[in-house]
Amino acid sequence: MPEKEKWTGARGLTALLCCELLLVTSIGCGGTHRATLPETKPVSAVFEPLQEDLKKSYLTLFETAAKLEYSDSQVAKMREYLNQGEDYCLGKFKGVAGEYQRRVEAAQDSLKKDITDAERHNLHCEIQDARDLKQQADLISQHAIPVAYDNKRAKLDVIQKWPAEEKLIRQSIADGSYKTRRWGDAKDIGFREIEKDQKDDIKLGENSIRDLKQMGMMPKEIEDPVVVNYVKDVAQKVARNSDLRVPLQVTVLNSKEINAFALPGGFVFVERGLLEAVDDEAQLAGVISHEVSHVVARHGRKLMTKAMIASILYQAAQVAAIVFTGGAASIGAYYAFQYGFWGLGLTLNLTLLGVSRDFERQADQLGIQYAWKAGYDTSGFIRFFDKMATKEGYVNGASWFRSHPPFFERMVGSEREIMYLGAPEHAVVTTTDFMAMKAALAKVSVVAEKDNKKGPTLLKREENCPPPSRLLFEADQPIETICSVPKTKPVEPKN
Ligand SMILES: [Zn+2]
Repeated sequence: MPEKEKWTGARGLTALLCCELLLVTSIGCGGTHRATLPETKPVSAVFEPLQEDLKKSYLTLFETAAKLEYSDSQVAKMREYLNQGEDYCLGKFKGVAGEYQRRVEAAQDSLKKDITDAERHNLHCEIQDARDLKQQADLISQHAIPVAYDNKRAKLDVIQKWPAEEKLIRQSIADGSYKTRRWGDAKDIGFREIEKDQKDDIKLGENSIRDLKQMGMMPKEIEDPVVVNYVKDVAQKVARNSDLRVPLQVTVLNSKEINAFALPGGFVFVERGLLEAVDDEAQLAGVISHEVSHVVARHGRKLMTKAMIASILYQAAQVAAIVFTGGAASIGAYYAFQYGFWGLGLTLNLTLLGVSRDFERQADQLGIQYAWKAGYDTSGFIRFFDKMATKEGYVNGASWFRSHPPFFERMVGSEREIMYLGAPEHAVVTTTDFMAMKAALAKVSVVAEKDNKKGPTLLKREENCPPPSRLLFEADQPIETICSVPKTKPVEPKN
């Protein structure tokens, strides 16, 4: 590519990165936050049961919403309560992050004084610990809190709007108009054309992989044959029942991220964290189907052209720079610092996958269709999404939840497609092969976690420090308790 064009490409990308980062950080960025717990809430006879309803799964709410009797004004009050709660929570964690930053700076000032070697060492330890904690606090305020509250608001939307939506869906099934929806020809999967020339993307995908490897951004592959063969089998089963016109190449990565992603041309990557997180085969198939759909619809290629992105290498360098300079605390940065790994999902999320609302909508719809055609329980995708957003998503997970389209739209869109398709006969939820994979995976995970502890990190760590401070959150901690726990936890060993 000529030099000038490259430069324009770089600018396009920078704009893209900025815009995505702004989206993430603007949630409460700069402004002041409320210092007290929410004041507005529905009367307690309504508040308590509604709180409980918001803890229910999307699937349960789809079934029961019509029977719930909350008025619009009660729902509006609850929404206000959630907004205030999020604001309070964000303020709290931004305060915490600021506090750690001040600690870093104070220790850095002390380094300039005339001090002994022992004092210097202690200050290095202090800086290291405070930096880790600041990263964690940033991650919580920029990722965890917004995701958790978005999820709650989406469930509130389901309670309020689903009954009417469901009526419309049933109506269009009854009068046959649902058949005219985009890609309503699900019976012709494999024989219809979603996008021409998928094979033209293979080169692009191969180049991207080579570049990611050169940048050191591609985690190691899992070698255990039970795990690898299982994942490949499920993926191929999905591929055979899709509109894919290129060979599917599946790679299973040994990284903790709960993620899967696709590169143009048929390359699908499944990360270990995802395999650990799924509860059954239908959930895994739902995620893989979604990724296969990105390939089928050629989203990667389209985004790359649209944003004039020169190459994935460049993107990777940009992200790496952001991680290094601490400019954006993110899920990626979190992994970078905690596990010595540059959250690959971050790169791809910022660029290929997370940008377009409509692409995500399309992949959700096609994904449901492929899982359906492959004979899986189509609710797997919704169940997994729900689990991630409710429990682990906001802490450990994935670029998946970096937002648009809104959760309500995604969940309702998926459920709508499921209803249009109808349940496949004898839908597969899980298999004995799935359990065998889980058993083999458990061993792989143990070894990987051990390796991680002694593994490389971006910054050389100061050795022989006191045990690092504990994480500010636990994997399964509900958001309300994150916001109400004391700011800091006692220092104790991490492992
Ligand atoms: Zn996607």
